[in-house]
Amino acid sequence: MNEYSPPAPSPVMAQYLEIKEANPGCLLFFRMGDFFELFFDDAVAAARALDIALTKRGRHDGADIPMCGVPVHTAETYLARLIRAGFKVAICDQIEDPAEARRRGGKGPVRRAVTRVVTAGTLTEEGLLDARRHNYLAGIAEAGGEIGLAWLDLSTGAFELMPTSEPGLAGDLARLMPGEILLPERLLTRPTLFELLAEWKPALTPLPNPRFESEAARRRLQEFYGVGALDGFGGFGRAELAAAGALVDYVGLTQQGRAPHLQPPRQVMPASVMQIDAATRRNLELAATLAGERKGSLAATIDRTVTAAGARLLTEHLGAPLTEPHAIAARLDAVEFFADRPELRAGLRERLKRCPDIERGLTRLSLGRGGPRDLAALCQSLGETATLRDILAAPGLVPLPERLAAAQQGLGEHGVLVDRLGRALDAELPLFARDGGFIAPGYSDELDEWRGLRDESRRMIAALQARYAGETAIGALKIRHNNVIGYYIEVSTNHAGKLGPEFIHRQTMAGAQRYTTAELADLETKIASAAERALALELRLYEDLVGEVMARRAEIAAAAAALAALDLSAALAELAAEAFWVRPIVEEGAGFEIRGGRHPAVEVALAEEGRGGGFVANDCVLGDDRIWLVTGPNMAGKSTFLRQNALIAILAQMGSYVPARSARIGIIDRLFSRVGAADDLARGRSTFMVEMVETAAILNQAGPRSFVILDEIGRGTATFDGLSIAWATLEHLHAVNRCRTLFATHYHELTALAAKLPALACHTMRVKEWKGDVVFLHEVGPGTADRSYGIHVAKLAGLPKAVTARAEEVLSVLEKGEQGGALARLADDLPLFSAARRRAEPAPPQESAAEALLRDTRPDELTPREALDLIYRLKALAPE
Ligand code: ADP
Repeated sequence: MNEYSPPAPSPVMAQYLEIKEANPGCLLFFRMGDFFELFFDDAVAAARALDIALTKRGRHDGADIPMCGVPVHTAETYLARLIRAGFKVAICDQIEDPAEARRRGGKGPVRRAVTRVVTAGTLTEEGLLDARRHNYLAGIAEAGGEIGLAWLDLSTGAFELMPTSEPGLAGDLARLMPGEILLPERLLTRPTLFELLAEWKPALTPLPNPRFESEAARRRLQEFYGVGALDGFGGFGRAELAAAGALVDYVGLTQQGRAPHLQPPRQVMPASVMQIDAATRRNLELAATLAGERKGSLAATIDRTVTAAGARLLTEHLGAPLTEPHAIAARLDAVEFFADRPELRAGLRERLKRCPDIERGLTRLSLGRGGPRDLAALCQSLGETATLRDILAAPGLVPLPERLAAAQQGLGEHGVLVDRLGRALDAELPLFARDGGFIAPGYSDELDEWRGLRDESRRMIAALQARYAGETAIGALKIRHNNVIGYYIEVSTNHAGKLGPEFIHRQTMAGAQRYTTAELADLETKIASAAERALALELRLYEDLVGEVMARRAEIAAAAAALAALDLSAALAELAAEAFWVRPIVEEGAGFEIRGGRHPAVEVALAEEGRGGGFVANDCVLGDDRIWLVTGPNMAGKSTFLRQNALIAILAQMGSYVPARSARIGIIDRLFSRVGAADDLARGRSTFMVEMVETAAILNQAGPRSFVILDEIGRGTATFDGLSIAWATLEHLHAVNRCRTLFATHYHELTALAAKLPALACHTMRVKEWKGDVVFLHEVGPGTADRSYGIHVAKLAGLPKAVTARAEEVLSVLEKGEQGGALARLADDLPLFSAARRRAEPAPPQESAAEALLRDTRPDELTPREALDLIYRLKALAPE
């Protein structure tokens, strides 16, 4: 049978086309021998995405068939790149041995079937995942006018859901950062979701509406968990159920029916976590910096975890700070426990470092995608749980704080399994069970016997070679092995005549002849059958071990969760000790009292620049004055001050110590920030538009328990415009939103509002003028800045002297007031400067129509579309 050079449509091609049609929307990786091949449009797309050669193979419908392929053993790397590029890939494997197919009668191609569909949200392989981050598959559904959101991490089995709303969705998705989002097709056209979905476009997987039917979803979930009702898991709304059901359905589809390990769905109530919208998360650089890197983000700055699962938990907690003082205090108790006990902490962290990731291994095993190394990792980590339990059970530590006691219990008892795995697994392990050779000697008598026979036969072959060499007097006679003809006897052609009749000729090579004998064939059969039996037995033993692990998967998942929780508490304690952070008090009420607060990332950055200790700590006490108007020059530290207070609140409510001398915070339910927005050209918005959209969100949503930081509102438009908007915004925040607010501004005129608004207080960044220079002290104090020192910053930035000198002149005139007349005079008669300019530049030519158009253009206010129109108009003005 030759399936490699068929004329089209060959039986293989027919098989290909059938499977391809059954898996729409996916690239089809079609297994042929040692390669996954792609054909037709798939080949063109994949060759381009992977930068590999596009070739041809046979013809179909009178045209060449484009083809490209990747080797099976390195397929994972290519898969990763395709998934990252936004493709879904159906893996079509050979599901029978080609030798078996031949035995079947050689009719038709080897049997093939899709064994899995790989999508961004359903990855489980280590090589395709970031160990320190969750990779969520999220589902959005609507039922009875409500929106439900569900998300799961297939690689760890975490599964959660929550009721949400159209306006809330953006923040929820920003928190989860799902790799893939399922939603019913009909939501795609909903105008209110249009912008949000556009933002998440590469991750969207729209599915037919009936897949999100809530009753069917309930049944599917009940079936999946083998329960008669879901009430035991929580009282879920229809929309949540529909979303969760669609997820389970999709997982079944992509895993081709294999049931992965998934924890029972856990309901998260929106009110139980601090609401932080996408813009605020970006602005505060929680998970990534504005430049998109993890380094420098808050997550990276505070991460001291030593296990991947601990790191994932940290990112999760940081993304969803709590709003319930008891729950926060419980987390803080656990951190404090370790903060107070450095030696215990060090010992515990040492042990945790030896715990490989078991959450993901457990899922791989449950999907039949694991291997002996996943079992070894389980054995190793579960083995450590006993020591960890002992560490926590030391006298003098009881009673443990609630969360640690729970973790201690969660660690569980795994002695029997650990012992069995320890005895079963060899020291050196192959990646796949099918490679064999992973069961340790002494674990199974039968296996040892087969292996002994196999090895013994090999020794016998060596003895046979020696005997034949002696008998034939050909010293160079060798017995060798290859995969095509198996064992053979080889002698050089000039010795061939010396062999007796028992030597049966098999092959003639250049200068050599190959033979076999009945004796050799017999030994070969023995070796092959012993090896085959040994491998078959090993695979059975492997399945037994996996079965035993699966039977205990709930306990193992609990142990994994306990390890992550211990790691996180100890890591936050480590950080607190290392960076001199303190335990915050988080309580009901609207207070906000930070003494000696610092910015966690800026402080570290200064230390890295060799200016350790250079960070100036500042207080922020919002009481009766719940709005602080912060003025001060550029570069004086306003943004840093605003952000640090928001970050301290997030840290406190996620259950971490905070960078301050002391902190007392009344629960914040929503956090908003508007700081230094950038153009959002992708969505056709100018800087000013982005700023106004973010401000609108704040004014429409902030309430008395919210915390708002606003940096430089109303720039990017004319001065009076901007000032008026800032003014009205402040009044609204004061009278309507009544939230705690830090408001940084250059509009010193706003400080006049302090007299009118009782809850508004003015603060400023202290500055010292010294020998004509300005020194920023980075200290926040009561009062108002008298100047902006913009020209000073301009000098620092290297503007030409002529410009800064001229700016100072203009400024001094402006500062004298009666602006209109003074400005006219300035423009009229400034002989020195204009003379200098005349000398430096040729006289300006008459303004052209194109120049006039450019003069009247405000780039900040253009959408990309308008910008393009502008270019066409300019082009039209150009002489032919
Ligand atoms: P502004 O918002 O007033 O323009 P930034 O907050 O951006 O100023 O701060 C400018 C720089 O000043 C920061 O990058 C940092 O290096 C430094 N800085 C800010 N606050 C402090 C502080 N409290 N202590 C020491 N240096 C600071």
